Amino acid sequence: MPAVKIGIIGAGSAIFSLRLVSDLCKTPSLYGSSVVLMDIDEERLEAVYTLATKYVEEVGGNLKFEKTKNLEDAIKEADFVINTAMVGGHNYLERVRQISEKYGYYRGIDAQEFNMVSDYYTFSNYNQLKYFVEIAKKIEKLSPKAWYLQAANPVFEGTTLVTRTSSIKAAGFCHGHLALKEMFDTLELEHDKVDWQVAGVNHGIWLNRFIYEGKNAYEKLNAWIEEKSHDWKPLHPFNDQLSPAAIDMYKFYGVLPVGDTVRNSSWRYHKNLETKKKWYGEPWGGADSEIGWKWYQETLGQITDITKKIAKFFIDNPKAKFSDVKGIFSQEIQDNELLQEMERILDPEQKSEEQHIPFIESIVSGKKERFIVNIPNKGIIPEIENNVVVEVPAVVDNEGIHPEKIEPKLPERVIKYYLKPRIMRMEMAVEAFLKGDINIIKELLYRDPRTQSEEQVEKVIEEILSLPENEEMRKHYLKKK
Ligand code: NAD
Repeated sequence: MPAVKIGIIGAGSAIFSLRLVSDLCKTPSLYGSSVVLMDIDEERLEAVYTLATKYVEEVGGNLKFEKTKNLEDAIKEADFVINTAMVGGHNYLERVRQISEKYGYYRGIDAQEFNMVSDYYTFSNYNQLKYFVEIAKKIEKLSPKAWYLQAANPVFEGTTLVTRTSSIKAAGFCHGHLALKEMFDTLELEHDKVDWQVAGVNHGIWLNRFIYEGKNAYEKLNAWIEEKSHDWKPLHPFNDQLSPAAIDMYKFYGVLPVGDTVRNSSWRYHKNLETKKKWYGEPWGGADSEIGWKWYQETLGQITDITKKIAKFFIDNPKAKFSDVKGIFSQEIQDNELLQEMERILDPEQKSEEQHIPFIESIVSGKKERFIVNIPNKGIIPEIENNVVVEVPAVVDNEGIHPEKIEPKLPERVIKYYLKPRIMRMEMAVEAFLKGDINIIKELLYRDPRTQSEEQVEKVIEEILSLPENEEMRKHYLKKK
């Protein structure tokens, strides 16, 4: 099997990088490959590099790791480039949210109908979108045959932008569809007996096919709704696949919204904290309420801190093993996602369920496997334009991505009332970015149910453009003045 070079941009996202590293170690067909970890944050990069090299050594995998702060080093001669970077980090998103809320835009101007996910900024995220295009252009120049794997959000706008502005091979990935497994368990369905399909756009996918042992499995879901849904309670803020919001959307659209699609509902479910609690459950009101998102931020912060501490522990104790970590840090990682995650990472039988490394394996080795990918539509969903990136199931092998026929078709309501309005907002974000046209962002806000006056629109835009990190965005958008 030919060894490949994989560049990971934004590699300091510790859990994500370790998932990829452990998946690679559990994929012997990719042994001999090299991985370049790239990040601008030295401390995070160092921590991930330490853990990755330690992990490979401990499990006896044959992989070479490098670390760099230089983008070109991660791209040059790469066969695959995975982008998980978040330019400006969560801090930037929170500052924009704060400014927006000061002017009456609850949860920020980027929270929009069918896009309520709190780290999925599309209008005020100039630096992130610009980075996507910069990476794509560098791949075009330095390693034109490489695949670009988009993991950073917004995956929908990002993958559409990259595939429209460059000639590189690109696909976007999200793990949202995994929420289906939780639903199959609740309905007591054996996973390998379910014949299912999802289709739509990223964070807007719908269960168009749901068959169990040859029969319509929606009947089982209907029975659960009838008999058991009133007892439903979320286990954590993201646990919403069978929430009242999901069921209500299912009743309106005729098929079930899947994964993050449940979060991406209309203002009816998101107007304020009280409304969110009603539809996404107490006490958090879902992942995107002020309470749910705080929970997520704190969890991410703890994971980053613990990762750094574990890395330091290995530097100070070079002979220590991953199995020592659990005992030494037990107090700190108790009740923390990292503990479960670490156990899974160390288990030779379990892969992370992220699709990136299995996708690379299928492309390199020809091993046919099914993935949920974000790729240009090109007729897959006939009612949607060809150059819009859709999220659909596909079989992947060494000849590329072969999308499945979407059968049965998505209901008309999903296409007309959900996907088309969401696609319109993607088009507005992409056009505003490409043309530097502030009027498109203003137009979006004039139509926003939270807008009371033109002055409100002018002021919120002015203050967001005045942030120091938005100097370039400001010039780009106001150049015509
Ligand atoms: P994070 O801030 O913890 O990690 C992002 C990393 O990017 C940091 O280490 C940061 O230093 C680095 N970075 C910032 N600017 C950079 C640059 N110019 N070049 C290289 N690296 C840079 O964020 P996170 O919570 O881990 O999320 C990362 C991204 O992944 C976000 O866009 C998030 O929305 C997305 N995400 C995607 C999925 C999915 O399934 N596709 C799931 C969760 C999160």
